[in-house]
Amino acid sequence: MATAFITGSARGIGAAIALRLAEDGFDIALNDISEAMFEDNDIMEKIAAKGVKVQKFICDVSNYAQAEETVKAIKAEFGSIDVLVNNAGITRDGLMARMSEEQYDMVVAVNQKSVFNMSKFVGNVMMRQKSGRIINLASVAGVYGNPGQINYSATKAAIIGMTKTVAKELGSRGITCNAVAPGFIKTPMTDKLTDDQKNAMLGQIAMKRFGEVEDIAGVVSFLASKDAAYVTGQVIEISGGIMM
Ligand code: NAP
Repeated sequence: MATAFITGSARGIGAAIALRLAEDGFDIALNDISEAMFEDNDIMEKIAAKGVKVQKFICDVSNYAQAEETVKAIKAEFGSIDVLVNNAGITRDGLMARMSEEQYDMVVAVNQKSVFNMSKFVGNVMMRQKSGRIINLASVAGVYGNPGQINYSATKAAIIGMTKTVAKELGSRGITCNAVAPGFIKTPMTDKLTDDQKNAMLGQIAMKRFGEVEDIAGVVSFLASKDAAYVTGQVIEISGGIMM
């Protein structure tokens, strides 16, 4: 059985991706920064109900040593890691003029360094396997910018560069690396926005609705599937048409 490892998957988009990949038949390695994140929901039970193996691995993905230990533990438990979804991400929004150094550095560590950490350690496993899929969560904020998100948009633009670099470095080993760039998706991350911010966003969306977590999970499922075997280094926007 093939294994998929999804970071930041206790809730939100990561949980939806994990559930969808379980439906696709993957054994699932879940991750989040704290055990408590799994107490508020039944994601483990929902995945187990699909008849696949599921286990959670608590670690801070921005921590290099913890990332290495976690990847070793997943490899030991599951035998292989066939799909890595770099999903964990945070926001610490604020206009640049008022943003603190701490706000900037924290978002870079969690959103961007984590992609280096996990892609490196899982990439090493995939190179030995001579196959694998790496799928990164970028954002339309990394493509078009977004006021109040200089930290977040920097990390999401970086992820696009990292995706293309990993695709070029690992392609000859049978490993693909792609990114999805969601627009506004209904999750705890976007619940924090004010009604004014949400309405302004809605005005820009061609489809006049916010995205559902399943809209992201479906595209990730495709990128992890046999049908996407020759797709690499690409960024697929899933935004209901925010920009075209
Ligand atoms: P979410 O609901 O906040 O879920 C993210 C999960 O990652 C949370 O459970 C979070 O735990 C966890 N996490 C945070 N820091 C971590 C760390 N250091 N190590 C391990 N896990 C950590 O966010 P989401 O909306 O599902 O977003 C998922 C991804 O999609 C992110 O990369 C985000 O940038 C991207 N995205 C989302 C949208 C959107 O509209 N929602 C749009 C574009 C891109 P805590 O709650 O404890 O922090």
